[in-house]
Amino acid sequence: MTNESHHNPARLQELAQAFTVLPNENKASDARREELIDKPAFGQLFSDSMAHMSWTKGEGWSDRRIEPYAPLKLDPGASVLHYAQEVFEGLKAYHHADGSVWLFRPDANAERLQNSARRLYLPEVSIDDFLGSVAALTMQDVKWVPTRREYTLYLRPFIFASEPFLGVRAPEEVEYCVIASPSGPYFPGEIKPVSIWVENKYFRTGPGGTGYAKCGGNYAASLLGEYRGIEQGCEQVCFVDAATQTYLEELGGMNMMVVHKDGHVETPSLTGSILPGITRRSIIQLLQDDGHDVVETMIALDQLLEDIKSGEVTEVFACGTAAIVTPIGRFKSETFDIEVNGGKPGELTMAIRNQLLGIQLGEIEDPHNWMWKVC
Ligand SMILES: *Cc1c(COP(=O)(O)O)cnc(C)c1O
Repeated sequence: MTNESHHNPARLQELAQAFTVLPNENKASDARREELIDKPAFGQLFSDSMAHMSWTKGEGWSDRRIEPYAPLKLDPGASVLHYAQEVFEGLKAYHHADGSVWLFRPDANAERLQNSARRLYLPEVSIDDFLGSVAALTMQDVKWVPTRREYTLYLRPFIFASEPFLGVRAPEEVEYCVIASPSGPYFPGEIKPVSIWVENKYFRTGPGGTGYAKCGGNYAASLLGEYRGIEQGCEQVCFVDAATQTYLEELGGMNMMVVHKDGHVETPSLTGSILPGITRRSIIQLLQDDGHDVVETMIALDQLLEDIKSGEVTEVFACGTAAIVTPIGRFKSETFDIEVNGGKPGELTMAIRNQLLGIQLGEIEDPHNWMWKVC
C-alpha cells in the first residue's frame, strides 16, 4: 500500500523552486547510471548534481542553486581545514512501489542541523532552505533513487566555514551543500548481530562538549577508539561517559536500546553528550504505540553486563538512519567478553526494524505522518 502524504508535496516543490537549476554537461548516461545504481555499496557513489548556497557575514545566505556534482574550489587557508567548523546531516530518499519518492522526517533533520550549527558557532540554515535544498536535489536527480528494496538515495547536507583565515573566530564566509549517494544497506547481506568494543580510554566527547551536535569533529575523535576495537576483532565501538566511565552512551554513529525480559526498553537519556537520533526518537514512539514502556535513563555498564548474564536483558540493538536497526550480539573490552541473546538477532529488534522500514518504504501504514512525498 502507499499512503497519502499528510505533508503537501506542493509545499516542498515550492520551497525547492528557490534553488535555481544550473546546466549540467556532465550527467551520466541512462545506461551508465542504471548500471551504477544497481547494487551500490554505502556512500561510495554520488549522483549528477548537488545543492549549494553560500553565506557571508553581511549578506546572509544567497546563491541557492542545484549545480553539477564536482570538486569544490577551496582555499587551503579555509577555516574548516584547520579548525573543523563543520556540521552535517544524513537522511534518505525512498522509492515506493508506485514510483513515488519520499523523505522520512526531513523537518527533524532540519531542526537538528540548526542545533548543531549553533553549537559550532556556524550560521543556521532555515527550515525552508533545508527542505527546499533536499527536495530540489532529490527531484533533479530522482533517477538516481535506486528501486531495489532497501536501497536508497542517501542525502548528506553539510555546512562549513570556507573563508581563508588562520585566526580562530566566528566565520564570515560559509558554504552549505547537499550531496546525494545511491546506497545499498549499510551492513550488506542478511541481518547479522555486530560485536561491540566498549572503549574506556579515548572518548568521542565529554561534558559540555559537542556530543549532541552532528559534527565531523566527533567522528574524528571517535576513530582511534573505533580502531582499538577493530584490532580486538570488534565491528563497532560503544562509548561510555567520559566523566565517570560508568554509563553507556552510544556507538560512533548510532544510538542504543536495551530490551528487558518484561518487554520494557531502556535507552540512554540525552545528557548532552549523546546525539539525539531521529531513528531513536521514532523507535521510542513505535514501541510506546505498541504498549512497551520506554525508559530514558542512565544505563550503568556494570549493571547492563550483569543483566545480560542473568537474562534480565534479552536484546540490545543500535539504531540510526544509515543502518536502521542493528542487533548487538557481543560486548567486549579489556576485562570482559559477553554474548547477548546467544549472538542471535532478538525478536523485538527484528520486529521494530521491519516496522520502521515498512513505514519508510510505504509498505505499512504511517500512523504519525512521518513520510514526506517529494514527487
Ligand atoms: C547521526 C547519528 C546518530 C543517528 O541519528 P539518526 O538521526 O537516527 O540518523 C547517532 N549517533 C551519532 C553520533 C550520529 O552522528
